[in-house]
Amino acid sequence: MLIFKKVADLRQWLASQTSPIGFAPTMGALHEGHLELIRMAKREGCLAVASIFVNPTQFNDIRDLEKYPRTAEKDAALLLTAKCDALFIPPVEEVYPPGKNLTIELDFNQLDKVMEGEFRPGHFKGMATVVNRLLDIVRPNKLYMGQKDFQQLSIVRDMIRQLALPVELVMCPTVREPDGLAMSSRNVRLTTEMRAIAPLIHQILLWAKTESGKNRPSEEIQEEALQKLVAAGFRPEYFDLVDGVSLLPVKQASDGDFIVACLAAFAGDVRLIDNLVLKQNI
Ligand code: AMP
Repeated sequence: MLIFKKVADLRQWLASQTSPIGFAPTMGALHEGHLELIRMAKREGCLAVASIFVNPTQFNDIRDLEKYPRTAEKDAALLLTAKCDALFIPPVEEVYPPGKNLTIELDFNQLDKVMEGEFRPGHFKGMATVVNRLLDIVRPNKLYMGQKDFQQLSIVRDMIRQLALPVELVMCPTVREPDGLAMSSRNVRLTTEMRAIAPLIHQILLWAKTESGKNRPSEEIQEEALQKLVAAGFRPEYFDLVDGVSLLPVKQASDGDFIVACLAAFAGDVRLIDNLVLKQNI
């Protein structure tokens, strides 16, 4: 696996490649969820390029940025096991050259305002900016991203459409621990006590799926799910049943063909997000 720190070096190598390029941007502290993106790119016949860049512009809380785990050497070893072809691990000034304003100013309508958008102001602008910048550097044929960050994926899809970027977005299913907890770089920060209750998030999502199948009003399901989260020891921020395309709330499961339950909750001081497709007839 080749490791690049500079845009110019990566570009030079990319220019000499003939196979399609599959790209998986990450913030490091890699786990099986990330590796699955690489494996999928390889399965689909791509040269796999991963990036590790803890993007400062998408953190609305400086403490969260500072606490973000950084494990570059271990990450490189893991990428090797997944047969990743190249790793791009740039310093901040390579991604954001001083004096250049690369901020993305797109109107995503409600996509970046609901759910995460409400609780993490500026987060999606920073995320869209860095994904657009990395796409411009790597120019991949395929972009691999996880369903785990469902809203992020919806926004990237819309950005690709609005900017008519020549890249295919591939969604990879959420990889979970055996007990159902969605893998996340943040999980290592969970206390033993919080790690023990964390799988309940997935169980509550599964419960919501059963309940929405009975066509109960979403508001009732949301309210009950929030109560369950609080009773288990979480501090939930939201639990929403939304249309999987518009991300707007649905009144009940019969209101759409593609419905997703999304949530964010603090387990101690670790903020976890997860989602589950409740219904997909499209
Ligand atoms: P991050 O490093 O958290 O920014 O994530 C980088 C990419 O990995 C994003 O496309 C995430 O959606 C994806 N990802 C993170 N966790 C998982 C997971 N448990 N399953 C699948 N994809 C994931």
